[in-house]
Amino acid sequence: EPAPKRQHSPSSSPLQVFVKAKKRINDIYDSIDGYVLDVVRFVNNIPTDKDLLTADQAENIQALQKKVKGIKEVLARNHMKVAFFGRTSNGKSSVINAMLRDKVLPSGMGHTTHCFLQVEGVDGDEAFLTVGDDGQRRSVESVAQLGHALHKEKLDESAVVYVHWPKQRCHLLRDDVVFVDSPGIDVTQGLDAWIDAHCLDADVFVLVANAESTLMQTEKNFFHKVSERLSSPNIFILQNRWDQTANEPEFVEGSESVPEGSVVRQQHLERTVAFLVDELGVMTRAQAEKRVFFVSAKECLLQRLAESRAPGALPPVLAEGFQSRFFEFQEFERRFEECISKSAVQTKFEQHTQRGKSIASDLQTALSGLYDRAQAIRAEKATKRSKTKARIESTDQQLNALIESMKDKIYAMTDDVERKVAVALGE
Ligand code: GDP
Repeated sequence: EPAPKRQHSPSSSPLQVFVKAKKRINDIYDSIDGYVLDVVRFVNNIPTDKDLLTADQAENIQALQKKVKGIKEVLARNHMKVAFFGRTSNGKSSVINAMLRDKVLPSGMGHTTHCFLQVEGVDGDEAFLTVGDDGQRRSVESVAQLGHALHKEKLDESAVVYVHWPKQRCHLLRDDVVFVDSPGIDVTQGLDAWIDAHCLDADVFVLVANAESTLMQTEKNFFHKVSERLSSPNIFILQNRWDQTANEPEFVEGSESVPEGSVVRQQHLERTVAFLVDELGVMTRAQAEKRVFFVSAKECLLQRLAESRAPGALPPVLAEGFQSRFFEFQEFERRFEECISKSAVQTKFEQHTQRGKSIASDLQTALSGLYDRAQAIRAEKATKRSKTKARIESTDQQLNALIESMKDKIYAMTDDVERKVAVALGE
């Protein structure tokens, strides 16, 4: 009976929480950018001799423009990042491929993939590789070629190879999830440097463990180091290769009433939960129980490949218990999507929301300061003007009085002159 097909309509994926929040905050910053530009233009038009704005204040406003530009760039680049860890050959590449529903990463290459691989979505339908920041595109026609290319490049373990995979081929890439595959934690030396360089911004960590054995000390150490640096890392643990246990007699022990494999599963679960809760102390027991999954990445990938080649076709012949492992893988994906989108919204946008608010209030302070100073200057001018007016008025009066009195004097003088002339003429 074919496995239930999981539908991915874009609106139903929990990843949409992030996608929508990202769009929203980008729109908000576009508006903030517009406001800042308006204010800068306004400020630039203020005549400098007017005392409205000190040079410092003008500079602060101009600096907001740069700040907003910087934040917008960061926001546009933001994505959700998941980092995969585990010992070589536990199936990290297979898990990533199963999630991407395609053979994107070479698997079974053992120690040859010594570097970090980052898979991220790209527009268009052409896949290509870039190495480090050189930006030079290398085409990938096949996974084998990718493996070969990685081998040939002889990259050191701190190098990052970017696999740009068409977004349209996988909803996770389209919704901005970036996958990081790490060199096996058993073969690397510089674990600390690696965590610092590649993991501190990861929203979710997935440990791909081997269900055939218990968690190894190297695997535990890795998470100890991560949780020293991050206060509450989001961890998922995949007990992979669970299909291998399906037919093993020692895994089927237990009483008649206990379903196959469930004793071993219970033991594994208890130990893993104890590690997360008691040893690492990063979550509660109830939370931890929802972070451990028993899966088979290989089966899941085979099933999905078969389905995409011929929808509705019968699945490949897989080991007993495939359905429940497949279901558990899907359950992992659902919880993973919820967790990563929630975490990414918080870590990537919360801080920028606060900064957006503070920029808006800086703008408001600057503008209301300007307004207040403009009012003060106007009031000052008005007083000056009225003083002048009074002065002019009083001058007028004085002038009038002067003219009046001069008139009198002049009349008196003319009278006097007339009189003297009359006397002189002997009249
Ligand atoms: P990585 O080194 O951790 O990336 O491991 P790979 O994904 O390259 O897997 C190593 C080998 O194990 C490959 O041959 C895979 O096909 C195989 N493999 C991966 N996952 C499973 C699984 O769940 N069950 C089985 N039986 N084999 C698996």
